[in-house]
Amino acid sequence: MTDVRIGRSRVYATDLGLGTNAVGGHNLFPNLDEEQGKAVVRAGLDNGITLLDTAFAYGMGRSEELIGEVLQEPAYDRSRVIIATKAAQDVSKDGALNNSPAFLKQAVEDALHRLQTNYIDIFYIHFPDEGTPKNEAVAALHEMKEAGKIRAIGVSNFSLEQLKEANLDGYVDVIEDEYSLLHRDAENELFPYLKENRIGFVPFFPLASGLLTGKYSKESSFDSSDIRDDNPDFKGERFEQILEKVDLLRPIAEKYDATVAQLVLAWYMKNPAVSVVIPGAKRPEQVEDNAKAVDIRFSEDDYKKIDEIFK
Ligand code: NAP
Repeated sequence: MTDVRIGRSRVYATDLGLGTNAVGGHNLFPNLDEEQGKAVVRAGLDNGITLLDTAFAYGMGRSEELIGEVLQEPAYDRSRVIIATKAAQDVSKDGALNNSPAFLKQAVEDALHRLQTNYIDIFYIHFPDEGTPKNEAVAALHEMKEAGKIRAIGVSNFSLEQLKEANLDGYVDVIEDEYSLLHRDAENELFPYLKENRIGFVPFFPLASGLLTGKYSKESSFDSSDIRDDNPDFKGERFEQILEKVDLLRPIAEKYDATVAQLVLAWYMKNPAVSVVIPGAKRPEQVEDNAKAVDIRFSEDDYKKIDEIFK
């Protein structure tokens, strides 16, 4: 795996990370097993991944707690792990979004406690709130950075306009937003702004919740408790069109002796606009499988072919 710098910060992480919303994220996925979640985290670290992407909102602190427990195990060295977490949901206000400086500073302290650590590598504002000027919210995180409690400042689910306001003082190191072969809006205006301002980019839903692994067919259906049941990518004509495109990836993947998921992850990793790719996983075997994506060396032709299929 290759280390990449997160924006202009001093944080370096492997270009493949691990998404942990299914580690203790009981509010997002039904019937999660916490031991399995911890095994997913260990599989990431054991396969050379350094960046763990978590958030308060994944199980209302539970994901952070489970990661904290794994990092206490003798096999792991905190200083070699890059912890990225997020906050904005204010449980004292029924989970309403809160970016006020006081809330964010307390959210950092609370996350440090749950993670059993004395610094957080990347701290994101998970979602923008309605009222707080974005640069004032970021200034609060800048104070936490100056105090050594966080090492890089991130925002997530911010529009380009909101990002520009957040970055008025030049303090934003990284943004995490949705981006995948199926959702490529970020390429138009966001990527050029990030490049110009040396801000890192971490795409979420890189596998489009599993749709880009090639494991689904027209016959697939989802339980009403599954978040995919509400996702337009998994419905009707759009679902069928996506499946046809995914089928076109199979022969390319075969050429590299790879799975479709590995091919897709490697495609993002080759893009200089992408800092760290953070596929999620429910089982350790998925993590091991995804980690092999780093071995793919694309020909320019195949790289472009994939781009064209999903243009
Ligand atoms: P994703 O990475 O697009 O898809 C992950 C899901 O695909 C897994 O949970 C698993 O689900 C399936 N999968 C993964 N590897 C596989 C493999 N090798 N073979 C077959 N299936 C495989 O979606 P995500 O996990 O929701 O998003 C990635 C990460 O981004 C999250 O974990 C989270 O850290 C972050 N995120 C951030 C935000 C934000 O607002 N900032 C929002 C969403 C996500 P099944 O086994 O159930 O199929």
